[in-house]
Amino acid sequence: MKVLVAAGPTREPIDPIRYISNRSSGKMGYAIANEFAARGADVKLISGPIMAGCGCTGRFAQGVGVLKVETAEQMRQAVLQNADWAGIIIMAAAVADYRPLEQSAQKIKKDVKKLTLELEQTPDILKELGQNKNDGQVLVGFALETENLLQNAQQKLMEKNLDIVIANGEKAIDSDMADFIIVDKEGYKEFDNVTKQHLAQVLANRLLANN
Ligand code: C5P
Repeated sequence: MKVLVAAGPTREPIDPIRYISNRSSGKMGYAIANEFAARGADVKLISGPIMAGCGCTGRFAQGVGVLKVETAEQMRQAVLQNADWAGIIIMAAAVADYRPLEQSAQKIKKDVKKLTLELEQTPDILKELGQNKNDGQVLVGFALETENLLQNAQQKLMEKNLDIVIANGEKAIDSDMADFIIVDKEGYKEFDNVTKQHLAQVLANRLLANN
């Protein structure tokens, strides 16, 4: 089974020194990539800039099969280039939702009291994958929500044409443990206070059993 996993945050440059990003550590995606590889799957990992202390141990910590990217657009290119290759695609990356409309070639001087940054939406990689899904391909997305977890995950499942959405709350960010809800077209299952590694095992049990 060929599995494509995207992990970590993306960075959207403001100028050569500064960027917009988020608190994603990369732990979830690395746990998934390692678990699927341990079960014999052929795994490619597209990784944003993960945190130095994320403890992303295992095969992919050694850089095996890892393609490193920085921006949402770079992640999009890398994911789309490998999409046809993959039977399962798991987007565990916290892709930045917005990026500066313009990137300054020089460091912006701090000579004004207030600075306004104009932001534009980044391309929704997962939505694009859903629109071009191959026959039999399994698409898995994550949904980090601070409210209405289940409803938002169910909506994402339909809107992005996904097979599974894993909803998690704010406490999942940069943590080894989290509460998860696995949502598919048949229903949902809740997992309270489990490790990300456990969640990766549950996902591998589900997805590799049928393949
Ligand atoms: O819509 P929302 O950002 O909450 O969806 C989260 C899911 O969509 C995650 O699986 C994330 O990797 C993916 N995503 C994406 N491209 C974006 C934003 C999110 O692929 N620009």
